[in-house]
Amino acid sequence: MEIACLDLEGVLVPEIWINVAERTGIDELRATTRDVPDYNVLMTQRLRLLEENGLGIGQVQDVIDGLGPLEGANEFLDWLRERFQVVILSDTFYEFAQPLMRQLGFPTLFCHRLSIAEDGKLTDYHLRMEDQKREAVVRFRELNFKTIAAGDSYNDTTMLAEADRGILFSPPENVIEEFPQFPVTNNYEELKTAFLQAQEEIRSEG
Ligand SMILES: [Mg+2]
Repeated sequence: MEIACLDLEGVLVPEIWINVAERTGIDELRATTRDVPDYNVLMTQRLRLLEENGLGIGQVQDVIDGLGPLEGANEFLDWLRERFQVVILSDTFYEFAQPLMRQLGFPTLFCHRLSIAEDGKLTDYHLRMEDQKREAVVRFRELNFKTIAAGDSYNDTTMLAEADRGILFSPPENVIEEFPQFPVTNNYEELKTAFLQAQEEIRSEG
């Protein structure tokens, strides 16, 4: 039984920060690592913006709950779980993902965590480890699992390269160009087909 390692944002759910920015009207929350390359600076800025706008974890979770999974995501995840052991590897935080995980039936999720004060204020963030998506795939291999990974962007490419098979899902043009070794899928039907093909290849290798 292979492990399917799935990215979360852009694959099963919308991009969380961008949508929180849109729904709260806090434009500066749209910044990503493209605008602020230092992740530590970016996250500190995001937490400060939430505080300045009086948004605690409850309000942020309400916004995220309203996003919901992408159309067809639940059906795709059910299909995948019948055929693979599914683990979601994400760079989001448990406290943010929680409302969406509920809507997805609480699949296994490895991600990071936040520190939250009693009044709901987001005070700090804690990354599990550097490059945890790739590290997880390495550990699964050590447990003698074969892995098939799928994701949509740069922060997935080390995981895709480390897995027995890597698949891109609705990636931006620059990622397609820079990583031509990964097959590109643009909807869940194509992603299903790519997973089945990868499984067949892995099994035929023995
Ligand atoms: Mg993503």
